[in-house]
Amino acid sequence: MSRRDELAERLSEVRGRITAAAEVAGRDPDDVTLVVVTKTWPVSDVRLLHELGVRDVGENRHPEAEDKATELRDLGLRWHFIGQIQSNKAGRIAGYADVVHSVDSARLAHRLNAGAHSKGRVIDCLVQVNLDPDAAREGRGGVVADDLPGVLASVDDAEALRLRGLMGVAPLGGDPVEAYARLAAIAADTRSSYPSASWLSAGMSGDFEQAIQAGATHVRVGSLVLGQRPPLG
Ligand SMILES: *Cc1c(COP(=O)(O)O)cnc(C)c1O
Repeated sequence: MSRRDELAERLSEVRGRITAAAEVAGRDPDDVTLVVVTKTWPVSDVRLLHELGVRDVGENRHPEAEDKATELRDLGLRWHFIGQIQSNKAGRIAGYADVVHSVDSARLAHRLNAGAHSKGRVIDCLVQVNLDPDAAREGRGGVVADDLPGVLASVDDAEALRLRGLMGVAPLGGDPVEAYARLAAIAADTRSSYPSASWLSAGMSGDFEQAIQAGATHVRVGSLVLGQRPPLG
């Protein structure tokens, strides 16, 4: 089977499952955006995905993301940055990312804003909420509850950033239903203060149906579409 046929088949299966999960949840399937996570895969795959109708792609590492976005500029894809960002990379990332899912500090928001502003761009931002106490202890995995109001305000106040909502990653080996229920409750709370924060980025290959049940508007699916990622070198 050609790579194109393989991607077409896997993509169609994932799209079918998204539609089915939305219907089970009593939601409109059009309200769920599939972000295909192309990290580690070559630009040739991203081109094939574009031919197959994909418009939203996710990357988690700079400069891999920048290289791909630059090379594929002609396609008009929407680039979603979904990985943890070191502040000193924020300015560069602001040059090509259309959506950043992983805003986790006021400091990062300031840097993204400065970068976007200097390039005359506006970036849709999601604040990543920590759903995993183990990751929080290591300073990974997003903002803890106490810090959330400050980070939300810093994005909302930034002229070149649009506060769109929240993102969460279910803890490895935990119960995604429980994690996404917590995330949905925080999202509802956030929307009461910030009506523009209507996006909820949740769900990966292993749990996107549970995330859709909990109200995800953006699911980030990699391996189910592209296959098992090659081990990182
Ligand atoms: C890699 C990644 C995904 C996609 O993971 P799969 O299990 O391959 O679908 C989703 N979200 C984030 C934050 C990621 O880093």
